[in-house]
Amino acid sequence: MSRVVAVVLILLGLWGGVRAAPAGSPRPAGDEATVVRAALHTHTRMSDGLLSPMELVLLAKRRHLDVLAVTEHNTIVAALVARAFSGLVNGPVVLVAEEVTTRDYHLLAYGLHETVTPRLRLRDVLKEVHRQGGVAVAAHPTKRYWAAFEPNLAALDGVEVVHPMAAIPESATSTFRWSDMVAFYERAAVKGTAAIGTSDYHAFGGLDRALTFVAVSRWPADRGERAGLVLSAMRRGDTATRAPSGRVFGAPTPPAPQPALTRPPPAPGETALGMCGLIGVALLLGTGRRRL
Ligand SMILES: [Zn+2]
Ligand SMILES: [Zn+2]
Repeated sequence: MSRVVAVVLILLGLWGGVRAAPAGSPRPAGDEATVVRAALHTHTRMSDGLLSPMELVLLAKRRHLDVLAVTEHNTIVAALVARAFSGLVNGPVVLVAEEVTTRDYHLLAYGLHETVTPRLRLRDVLKEVHRQGGVAVAAHPTKRYWAAFEPNLAALDGVEVVHPMAAIPESATSTFRWSDMVAFYERAAVKGTAAIGTSDYHAFGGLDRALTFVAVSRWPADRGERAGLVLSAMRRGDTATRAPSGRVFGAPTPPAPQPALTRPPPAPGETALGMCGLIGVALLLGTGRRRL
């Protein structure tokens, strides 16, 4: 019985996240420099997320996002599916990406043509990402990942500095502290590394709780060209992001207008329905454990 309740709550959460938001209109093409809104760290149900790649594209479209990177753990397949679907529905530009996930580091890699294996040392993963013409970003670089990242600082194109962890109270003993991510970003940013902010999206609402604002030199009609311009801007460090506290990291050119740096208000019911979904997942995990 509680399993039925859990499934109903999860469905409500999914509906709240995907359907409750107002439909977005695509940004018109233009030759002038502009700042686009990007969700650069998302998961689907191909690993530990809840939405299919198609639902994720629809959610991003409804939240008026210009760019969506699908960064599934150790595979680019979800991103390829999302890119094909987004082209059909005139959704956001999808970057083909992956979160290379190992015990020692997580690395966000964008602009890939092939999946990058996590069985390599970070130094060799970075070489492979760049060989494919991609962009490499240190994912949530808390202290436990520093040993892998520190010797490879020069090869990182960006650092994820805003993450859901930014909203979690810190304890002195925790190894997952947002302040450590900020400290790492500040060391890396000396050489102009891109500031990346994400919601590390897995389920329900909140896809755009944290975004990266990317300054592109123009916004052509061609989707492939758009993706190329976003990747170039990330390589140049022309990005900015805003923490829940209001602190802004990075400095894109031209400067992002302040309204662009704020999140539109959640759609009516999005937060409450998202909570329903989380309770449903907790219930389901609870019943699963009892059966073991
Ligand atoms: Zn990760
Ligand atoms: Zn992730």
